[in-house]
Amino acid sequence: MERILVTGGGGFIGSHLARHLYLQGNFVRAVDVKFDDYIEEDYCNEKLEMDLRIRDNCLAVTEGIDKVYNLAANMGGIGFITEVGAEVMHDNILINTHMLEASRQNKVKRYLFSSSACTYPTYRQTDPNVKGLKEEDAYPADPDNFYGWEKLFTEKMCEAYQRDHGLDVRIVRYHNVYGPEGTYKGGREKSPAALCRKVAETQNPGAITIWGDGKQTRSYCYIDDAVIGTVMVMESDYDKPVNIGSDRLVTIDELADMIIKISGKHLTKKYDLKAPQGVRGRNADLTLVRKKIGWQPKVRLEQGLEKTYNWIETKVNEDRESLTEFPEIEHPAKLD
Ligand code: NAD
Repeated sequence: MERILVTGGGGFIGSHLARHLYLQGNFVRAVDVKFDDYIEEDYCNEKLEMDLRIRDNCLAVTEGIDKVYNLAANMGGIGFITEVGAEVMHDNILINTHMLEASRQNKVKRYLFSSSACTYPTYRQTDPNVKGLKEEDAYPADPDNFYGWEKLFTEKMCEAYQRDHGLDVRIVRYHNVYGPEGTYKGGREKSPAALCRKVAETQNPGAITIWGDGKQTRSYCYIDDAVIGTVMVMESDYDKPVNIGSDRLVTIDELADMIIKISGKHLTKKYDLKAPQGVRGRNADLTLVRKKIGWQPKVRLEQGLEKTYNWIETKVNEDRESLTEFPEIEHPAKLD
């Protein structure tokens, strides 16, 4: 049994990861500025609501901890990270700087940083038939957006802490992780969750709106695979950045068609060419992670999407019912 801290433990990957580690019999402390509570059962020993932009909070939560999985970040899907730059860089630099320094001071044995495919340069992602991104492709640097720059900077900061202070670091670069019990509404959701929600909300027959022309490509990794991969990276001897993703490239159109098929509805697609769509094509190369970590994803996209759609459809129905029970007041009276 180890004492493990999962930051971002109220969010999507963090809560699934915390549950996995907790069920393995570890002591798990989950910390977040807010808890979605989409996972209803107990999934950690301690649940602490704390803002990790504050140095003293980082010092408090790392005390007595063997391993840190640092997943806390101010982030969202393409709409959010295209719109918001300063806040994302400001918050995440503070979280990551204080978490690294607190882990050093509290003599944490190992520290994992959750980086992103957004670290990869835009000039390698201009074609939908893109080649899988290898870890070494991150340089010469030209990340996708401010969020990607912050992740790349923090990777370097991890390297510096390792070199100068002997902090044992691990770095995963996640590529589009999806699954149930994650953000599906509110503007921070990613493409699989957003499309599942749109399909679940749309009356049959009807139409959903796709951001962009639908020909942009991505690869998607199911949450259970991502959790196993993350723990395997943490437990491995490999201390350089490594991809955790899938190498099955699909267009957004294909992704939407799969979800529509799962729903059993007869929906058509409209295209919003003004909406943000990110890089034109992005895929993960898994050669390194297979070789160094012995991990590869197992869950087929169709299978993972079915679980995701079913969970989101239930949530959408619950949301609809609660709206009927407690209808929103359209023009609330001013109180002052
Ligand atoms: P998420 O938004 O569900 O989880 C991040 C959590 O961090 C949230 O619950 C949020 O409340 C918390 N957080 C934000 N600011 C905080 C603060 N000041 N103090 C404490 N907690 C704070 O996102 P996720 O998908 O679970 O992502 C987890 C990590 O993986 C993040 O670092 C993210 O950048 C990275 N990542 C995720 C993906 C993906 O596809 N989901 C892809 C690339 C990288």
